[in-house]
Amino acid sequence: MRKQIVAGNWKMNTTFSDGAELIKQIILKTDSVKNTQLIIAPPFILTSEAGKLTSNTKIEVSGQNCSNQAKGAFTGEVSAEMLKSAGANHVILGHSERRAYYLETNGLINEKIKISLENNLTPIVCCGEVLDERENNEHFEVVSKQIKGMFYGINAEDFKNIIIAYEPVWAIGTGKTATPIQAQEMHKFIRETIMNSYGSEIAENLSILYGGSCKPSNAKELFANPDVDGGLIGGASLSADDFIAIANSF
Ligand code: PEP
Repeated sequence: MRKQIVAGNWKMNTTFSDGAELIKQIILKTDSVKNTQLIIAPPFILTSEAGKLTSNTKIEVSGQNCSNQAKGAFTGEVSAEMLKSAGANHVILGHSERRAYYLETNGLINEKIKISLENNLTPIVCCGEVLDERENNEHFEVVSKQIKGMFYGINAEDFKNIIIAYEPVWAIGTGKTATPIQAQEMHKFIRETIMNSYGSEIAENLSILYGGSCKPSNAKELFANPDVDGGLIGGASLSADDFIAIANSF
């Protein structure tokens, strides 16, 4: 069965104490959330605290990135094994901000996906086109190339533990949201692409999340689409009320 998921990407926001407080506020409001998996991705400094605070709750914890290396002399990096040991079960990989500011390529993301799976972390793998690519009608080709590169060498068994997030870059943090029609047609395209490589059972069970200025006022119309299984939420996930309202938008 395909899971409905709402995941919050906090990005580089909150101090340790603000973040712990936000987690507590979210926990207090989770009773209203019925059939939706909640995931929060706070900054690394909070992974362990988030793991402790959310044990025995409906919330799971994610990293926002991890290293492509297992361990060793990689100053400033955090490994998949470290994330797992601190209480995370998921990790966001290939976010457009990592691609744009830290020059991450599909090949590097592929290595990160593999090392995450080896450490029993479920990667939330992001894809999506920039504005120029959308305006030039290249968005399907761009996403198809990202998927091919990022999932090179990943087998069907691995795919049972993968989540994809479609995040049109022009919609991230801009207040512009993809229309429900734009979201549905790309999610359907992604599912068909996965079906062609891994078969219909894997594709049908794959959760594909929409990300890009998703908020309580537009989540319902986005989540109503048959191939939209939830959202990866940036700005709105920093408000416990908004995050929970989005989770209740199915
Ligand atoms: C994101 O960064 O993954 C995201 C979707 O951000 P926002 O919701 O702020 O557009």
